[in-house]
Amino acid sequence: MILCKNCGEQVYNKFCPSCGQKASVKRITVPGLLQDLPHAIFHIDRGFLYNIRQMFTQPGRAINGYLSGQRKPFFHPATYLVISLVLNYLVVKITDLHLYDENELQTMDAFAAKAIRDYDAMQWWFLEHTYIYILFAISASSLFLFGIYKLLKQNYNLAETAVVVLFTIAQGVLIQTIIYSLFGWIH
Ligand SMILES: [Zn+2]
Repeated sequence: MILCKNCGEQVYNKFCPSCGQKASVKRITVPGLLQDLPHAIFHIDRGFLYNIRQMFTQPGRAINGYLSGQRKPFFHPATYLVISLVLNYLVVKITDLHLYDENELQTMDAFAAKAIRDYDAMQWWFLEHTYIYILFAISASSLFLFGIYKLLKQNYNLAETAVVVLFTIAQGVLIQTIIYSLFGWIH
């Protein structure tokens, strides 16, 4: 018998009965770190990449699985959304897409050029503040979908409905991020 290095519980098997950490946690060494690295990076049996893969290949099954108790392999949907938003923000900043061509604007009359610049600035404001309308969208969509589920006599409570919305919006943000990075790349 050993004591769990995470929570101090007595461990008789491979995993701690209380917190689930592996019993055999050794001191971190360079060989150990190198050995773990491919697994940590490429093994997508859980976490963010697992969410992405499941949500792209079988979103309905993934969300249902999560709701019916398959929690461990998944990233929490709120974390999933936050990471998606951060990625989205970075891609928007890095690709620095604009709706106009600077050289083309020079040839236009000042008024038209200003209108285009203003429109572009407004679009940029929305791109940079995606999270604000995402917050509104989560609340509004959750309530709306909750109503729909009630009408369809589906037995989801409000929190479960919010989970469905969080997964869906996070996936939408990710798809948007991919589209922006493709546009930036073509640009
Ligand atoms: Zn433990």
